Amino acid sequence: MKKILLFALALSAVLGASAVTPNKIVIPHIEGYKTLKGDFHIHTVFSDGTVWPATRVDEAVWEGLDVIAITDHVDTRHQKMVKEGYFTSKCDRDESYRVAKKAAGKKLLVIHGGEISRGMPPGHWNCLFVKDNDDITAAAEANDHDHFLAMKGGLAKAHEQGAFTMWNHPNWEKQAPNKTKWWKEHEKLYKAGYMNGIEIYNKYTGYSPEAHQWALERNITMFGNSDVHHMFMYEVDYLHGAHRPVTLVFATEKSLSGVRDALDNQRTAVFAEGMVYGRERELEPLFKACVRVKGLKFTDKQVSFTLENKSSIPVTLTKAPGSEHIWYPRVITIPPMSSISVSAKLLLVDNKQPKFDASTKEVSVNFYVDNFLVGPSKPLTFSVKATR
Ligand SMILES: [Zn+2]
Ligand SMILES: [Zn+2]
Repeated sequence: MKKILLFALALSAVLGASAVTPNKIVIPHIEGYKTLKGDFHIHTVFSDGTVWPATRVDEAVWEGLDVIAITDHVDTRHQKMVKEGYFTSKCDRDESYRVAKKAAGKKLLVIHGGEISRGMPPGHWNCLFVKDNDDITAAAEANDHDHFLAMKGGLAKAHEQGAFTMWNHPNWEKQAPNKTKWWKEHEKLYKAGYMNGIEIYNKYTGYSPEAHQWALERNITMFGNSDVHHMFMYEVDYLHGAHRPVTLVFATEKSLSGVRDALDNQRTAVFAEGMVYGRERELEPLFKACVRVKGLKFTDKQVSFTLENKSSIPVTLTKAPGSEHIWYPRVITIPPMSSISVSAKLLLVDNKQPKFDASTKEVSVNFYVDNFLVGPSKPLTFSVKATR
């Protein structure tokens, strides 16, 4: 009997353990702001996705996210669900948000959104913080003879509702074969105040250096989203440490208004496939929050220290200019949630003229953070400064 009881206890422990996320995303807060993890592009069975909205909430909570936006295609929903008779005409274009919102309760912030999809230009656009997707769809469809005018009408209506709007997957091969282009139509929508955000990363189309550059030059909020249509367990190899792309939002508080304030002020970054993309303004404090320098020692012969990575982001450092007279590994990788000790040996330039001696008061060990890009092909720089 005792054995059976023990077996039952062991079994329940195993079953319990199976619900634990193998790699919940951990990103520390930065100075002055909370770091929220978000996915602002998600489909459900209410458009061309295969999953019920409440499942999207479960998936996000399981992965440790703070905020999601439900962004079903506003145009295809009726075709698929109402016209085929799955839902009644009472089921409007805001129903997937309502279902997700109810399922989320206080566990997760859910943003009311929708995706307007047209040919290129102008492509696909998300509207976040909307009030009524039916009105937005009607405004777009009123000009359906022209992709640009349809989008402009839909976005104008979304802005009447106080929405935040963004260009999705500008590098989608189907809409941008061989080249990611900023069309004159995008310039018009940008000038109209509708290009509030842009996906510089989308799970299906990957990283877009062009979009990263446009966001920097034009002060557009950067996003990295999943655009998920199927079950996440089909899309992401969680068991091998993968995760969905996330938009990191640096918010004054964990609330919808806190998220909105951060988006309106471009305080975001993207974490996807081991890379972090963004602006220097956010990536520098983010790196400092993730990687701490500990046990710094400065002797006549070397500077030694430990780098402790307190995040889920694997960090790759390479030797940067300004430290030519110091010997330390040219490449250092710090896996998530781990530490590495570094010894930087102070060399003599030649036997006659020591570069460092007892009178040296400051030494700088310089790195590029190869996987934190503050622009296309432009890594963040990081220095360990030792003084005595
Ligand atoms: Zn799309
Ligand atoms: Zn989409």
